[in-house]
Amino acid sequence: MAPTQNPISSRQVAVIGAGAAGLVTARELRREGHSVVVFDREKQVGGLWIYSPKADSDLLSLDPTRSIAHSSLYESLRTNLPRECMGFRDFPFVPRGDYESRDSRRYPSHREVLAYLQDFAREFEIEEMVRFETEVVRVEPVNGKWKVRSKNSGGFSEDEIFDAVVVCSGHFVEPNIAQVPGIKSWPGKQSHSHNYRVPDPFINKVVVVIGNFASGADISRDIAKVAKEVHIASRAREFDTYEKISVPQNNLWTHSEIDKANADGSIVFKNGKVVYADNIVYCTGYKYYFPFLETNGYISNNENCVEPLYKHVFPPVFAPGLSFVGLPGLAINFTMFEIQSKWVAAILSGRITLPSPDKMMEDILAWYARLDALGIPKRKTHKLADFQCEYLNWIAKECGLSPVEQWREQQAIRGFQRLVSIPETYRDEWDDDDLIQEAYGDFARKKL
Ligand code: FAD
Repeated sequence: MAPTQNPISSRQVAVIGAGAAGLVTARELRREGHSVVVFDREKQVGGLWIYSPKADSDLLSLDPTRSIAHSSLYESLRTNLPRECMGFRDFPFVPRGDYESRDSRRYPSHREVLAYLQDFAREFEIEEMVRFETEVVRVEPVNGKWKVRSKNSGGFSEDEIFDAVVVCSGHFVEPNIAQVPGIKSWPGKQSHSHNYRVPDPFINKVVVVIGNFASGADISRDIAKVAKEVHIASRAREFDTYEKISVPQNNLWTHSEIDKANADGSIVFKNGKVVYADNIVYCTGYKYYFPFLETNGYISNNENCVEPLYKHVFPPVFAPGLSFVGLPGLAINFTMFEIQSKWVAAILSGRITLPSPDKMMEDILAWYARLDALGIPKRKTHKLADFQCEYLNWIAKECGLSPVEQWREQQAIRGFQRLVSIPETYRDEWDDDDLIQEAYGDFARKKL
């Protein structure tokens, strides 16, 4: 729907989270004339890019009383997207500041991403809007507005009323654990990638890593540097096959899924191979989790689908007062946060209008039907993948923005193809220099 002539109004908006999504959302809301309070539990901006050697007290993250670490970063982590396409569109992720102390590689370490987000926050003076060390513990609708209960590090609780709440709390904290038949009697140690930091606990061990996507591929190779053997269980591999991978230490295998785990310590794969393992590391993803949200059951999470959400952002009955920025996965994340947050800001001011709740529900059901017809399971409702540019360009058009740059889309696609085909080397070998040049040409033309 095109921008309307509605009068522009300024709202009091609470943003939950000062990670990449919350930072750009705060900027866009303020640009649109809203007054903004950002809440974050941490002492600084950056969200999951704040590395900490501390992990959850329960390494499987199942114990509800465990102490929780927000970040899922491992010490050796480098980005899984090339930096040119990863940054915000109007604040490119190029080497900045003191060049000597920064990581100028195309796929830099996590420290460089944190430094970039700190630069962004400084450039747009976002910290002045943030209440650090303040956790949002409850959000509920009250007479057309939103009551936000927060608790600061001194234990002081406060209730405040806002016109709107934008949830930017991230979704890489609550692990998804694969069900392995027989696991209850298996005697080894189990952990989730959320709690993986360094390979040291796996020196000379036989380790099974479940999952072979971005984190699984990285962590298995990191562990293989010190372990005796590493065996990856991969859903993508045909059930009767396995393969030995010669890097980094000639001690890494990929198998099909696990058939069962046994009390004698053995793990049997569906390809018939048996290994006696000391550890299992689950690199099996995360679940959406919004413990602070109280909507009387209107918003639910079924099979990791948060519903109902119009365009993955607005729950129809509560729109536009409640919205989510950053929910979808398999996307060019920062670009998505930027475009979604511009949309939210313009809808809250009345510059753009949403369809009626019934029409939004129709659109949600049409999206489900489309996924269903393509055989895409419900648990992948928010995985944009091949749909990401169609999705982002739809929102961009609503906001009167230019579509996602071709070079950005192509860099992301080709980067993803390299990640899958050459996981050991994709960060240091590429064949898309033409796209890098295009990106830098674009930044120069726009004087970014
Ligand atoms: P987060 O960064 O998680 O920020 C959420 C913030 O909300 C945190 O600061 C948290 O403290 C705060 N918060 C949460 N709940 C509350 C509460 N109740 N009260 C107050 N504060 C709260 N994306 C890429 O583009 N490139 C990559 O290379 C890349 N690598 C990744 C590697 C790993 C291991 C993981 C897990 C993800 C990776 N991602 C990557 C994806 C990721 O989505 C982001 O890059 C992005 O930074 C997430 O930003 P966010 O703001 O949505 O969430």
